[in-house]
Amino acid sequence: MVTTHNLGFPRIGARRELKHALESFWQGSLTEEQLQMEGEALRHKNWVTQAGVDLVPIGDFSFYDQVLDMSVTLGHLPARAHREEGSDLDRYFRVARGRSANDHEDCAIHAGEMTKWFNTNYHYIVPEFQADTEFSLNPQRLLDQIHEARNQGLVPKPVIIGPVTYLWLGKSKDDTDKLNLLHRLLPIYAELLDRLAAEGVEWVQIDEPVLVTDLDADWRHAFNVAYHSLKTTNAKLLVTTYFGDLRENLQLACELPVEGLHLDAISAPEEVARVVDWLSPHKILSLGIIDGRNIWRTDLGNTLDWLEPVHERLGDRLWLAPSCSLLHVPVDVSSEHKLEADIKSWLAFAVQKLDELKILARALNQGRASVHAPLTDNASVIQARRDSDRVHTPAVREAITNLKNHSGSRGTSFSERIQAQRGHIPLPDYPTTTIGSFPQTPDIRQARQQFRKGELTEAAYIDRIREEIADCVQRQEELGLDVLVHGEAERNDMVEYFGEQLDGYAFSQFGWVQSYGSRCVKPPILFGDISRPTAMTVNWICFAQSLTDKPLKGMLTGPVTMLNWSFVRNDQPRKDTALQLALAIREEVLDLEKAGVKIIQMDEAALREGLPLRLADRAGYLDWAVHAFRIAANDVRDETQIHTHMCYSEFNDIIEAIARMDADVITIETSRSDMELLDAFRGFEYPNDIGPGVYDIHSPNLPDKQDMIGLMKKAADRIPSDRLWVNPDCGLKTRKWEEVIPALRTMVQAARELRQSVQ
Ligand code: GLN
Ligand code: ZN
Repeated sequence: MVTTHNLGFPRIGARRELKHALESFWQGSLTEEQLQMEGEALRHKNWVTQAGVDLVPIGDFSFYDQVLDMSVTLGHLPARAHREEGSDLDRYFRVARGRSANDHEDCAIHAGEMTKWFNTNYHYIVPEFQADTEFSLNPQRLLDQIHEARNQGLVPKPVIIGPVTYLWLGKSKDDTDKLNLLHRLLPIYAELLDRLAAEGVEWVQIDEPVLVTDLDADWRHAFNVAYHSLKTTNAKLLVTTYFGDLRENLQLACELPVEGLHLDAISAPEEVARVVDWLSPHKILSLGIIDGRNIWRTDLGNTLDWLEPVHERLGDRLWLAPSCSLLHVPVDVSSEHKLEADIKSWLAFAVQKLDELKILARALNQGRASVHAPLTDNASVIQARRDSDRVHTPAVREAITNLKNHSGSRGTSFSERIQAQRGHIPLPDYPTTTIGSFPQTPDIRQARQQFRKGELTEAAYIDRIREEIADCVQRQEELGLDVLVHGEAERNDMVEYFGEQLDGYAFSQFGWVQSYGSRCVKPPILFGDISRPTAMTVNWICFAQSLTDKPLKGMLTGPVTMLNWSFVRNDQPRKDTALQLALAIREEVLDLEKAGVKIIQMDEAALREGLPLRLADRAGYLDWAVHAFRIAANDVRDETQIHTHMCYSEFNDIIEAIARMDADVITIETSRSDMELLDAFRGFEYPNDIGPGVYDIHSPNLPDKQDMIGLMKKAADRIPSDRLWVNPDCGLKTRKWEEVIPALRTMVQAARELRQSVQ
């Protein structure tokens, strides 16, 4: 019999129950006991949903983050968490969220650093290491959950993060080599595994996703050390990898002295045969055959075609699971009532994915005939999606074919263009601008809600937004900014706003995915060929421009960001989808230019996030990502100025690709890490104009004028001052007007002083 198991279930709840409970608790309207009860109820519900899967995950539920949970299990919270009294949960949230000095006059406690979980949009709390780091076992959370699951009649399979990945994810605070801590960590893992075995646990899922990354010899060696030392434990270990292929780590992974290996067969289909060959005959092979990162129904017939021969070879040694934890998909598509029926029928969220898993296992165990009806239904849905004329638009295909060999080049060099632009758009030295958005006040959000509910007519809504735009333009004039923006009041979200206006996109009501802690995102669903029925921003931008003599910058989201922040179709390469998006946005660019807009910004906030995990794959991604941007942005006249914006500073490794985008001006986040900016320019001279963000918009504090001047002077050491712009790090939509006005006033003064130093 084939065994089925799940690697992790979305913890947030089908209606974001966890988010609401957490936020009530943080506000003080829920007690700790009530929060714990809410957690228990959610786990209970999640396990009910997973019943029928042979082994259910336990320990995948978390009040904030699974890496922070692992830190607790290993007795390894930063010392600052223990500085004061409080419950374990208080300490936990102290690390997760920090504590501001405003709330507690004595001392602020800074939150643990947060960073992206591999190539997903989930963020984890980074463990902090130093030379004297010690660990101690704290298994209670796992033990409690084992009992909870057993009370529901289920077979629990604890999920933990493996020792090598745990070290790899952390940050050394004092330059200690993290691997030096391995020998202190391993006895705690051994103790934990024995403890779980003593509870009667047979299998433990031990996640080691770093096996899909580039590992040097020391890290590879660490795997051997770790798993040889854990060999004597009484629990059976399933070393679990996901998000990529194993490549040069394949033999290492196959030969670890453990009882089983999980391979992500969605990311690494071509490695299945090799792993089947390598794995010794006493080991289990778990194959991730259902995509845990995307929302499409699995082609069950096709999967069985290649899976049946594998099953024949492995027999009972074959296990089936989703490719990775289902944390990265929404909970249940059956609660969607607004999606069109055909599109809805193509989708599978976590609940549906587990159904698919059960059908596949049954087909292997009892023959396809035993699941004839669901297989037939699946085949017809897959066929319908493949044939749908909502997915395939011949005109889009044709336009793409015509474009494939187009380089997207501007045709003239930056030095020629900038002359034309200076004639067309007169600006002082150190021109000042902002990144696009101004405060999204509760008032604006309320108007949008009312419009959506039909309580406000479209005409009234447009008037309301126009009022907001007029106010925003006037305030920018008063501040003395040089290049103005319309403020983005009409946008709920920089991707959703455009997706809603493009053909080929659909939107769920409850398709939430955890991003970090209580924060969730609802990625739009890109299901078909992309086209733009009508102009998306021209009216708003032209209205704003009509109110001022200053140049007004049109504001668009770039194709790569649209792609990286959506659930995208899996029936064609991502790069083809990016090109379709590029084509649609290019039409908008050309319409804006035709309407007299002289400056157009195309945000690529998520370009870096799409970088593949493996170094060897990065150049390929950057090539098509840059190409998509160029196709979208660069078909304009010389005198039209193209800006782009990226909100991160670590772009040392991609700066050459960014230069190839050839935007006339790039604004980036720099204020929080000024050294990084300098590093990037040490090795490579960025050729076009650049606006290094001079203040951090995430902080409510008023930026200091001298700090801003200092930062610009550092930049001017690297880049001729006639190529520098002055702007904040990112958009201002999360700030209040009371914060924005004095901050920008100071920024404008800083620019004026800088100008004097040039003359
Ligand atoms: N133009 C967008 C804004 O100002 C950019 C947001 C972003 O970079 N994430 O909000
Ligand atoms: Zn930004």
